[in-house]
Amino acid sequence: KLGNATVKAELGRAAWKVLHTMGQRFPDKPTTDEKEAFKAFLWLFSRLYPCGECAQHFHELLVQYPPQTASKSVVSIYLCSMHNKVNESLDKPLFDCSKLEGLYDCGCGDDKHERES
Ligand code: FAD
Repeated sequence: KLGNATVKAELGRAAWKVLHTMGQRFPDKPTTDEKEAFKAFLWLFSRLYPCGECAQHFHELLVQYPPQTASKSVVSIYLCSMHNKVNESLDKPLFDCSKLEGLYDCGCGDDKHERES
């Protein structure tokens, strides 16, 4: 089936933005539950990502480089490295992961991201 590269790229940009912003919002000192949730999210993300070829590729990367969840900075660097692996395979320039700070703001201010039910 004929795909559409422009739409696929747009989906990719949106998805990376969500992932990196989640990284920036991850706790400095995550609980076991928070770590497990993030790992589960990434595995499910690789399963459900709408571009099948990308999903397959990302799943293989997760097998090779399992999610790192020790802290916000670990998660952020991990996601940046994973994105760089994809960049590499698409012949895109690599991103300097020391330049992440402040780049992926959620626009949610001091919202502590608590879910009280
Ligand atoms: P993107 O790679 O989408 O990046 C968006 C912006 O993020 C960049 O402009 C830059 O400012 C910033 N950025 C770049 N690198 C990093 C980094 N390492 N860390 C933080 N920020 C960074 N497309 C395919 O054709 N084949 C695939 O197999 C494929 N697999 C994918 C797997 C996943 C999980 C995702 C989310 C996307 C995948 N894509 C794939 C889409 C692809 O990665 C790009 O999103 C798409 O090609 C658009 O690229 P872009 O050059 O606009 O920038």
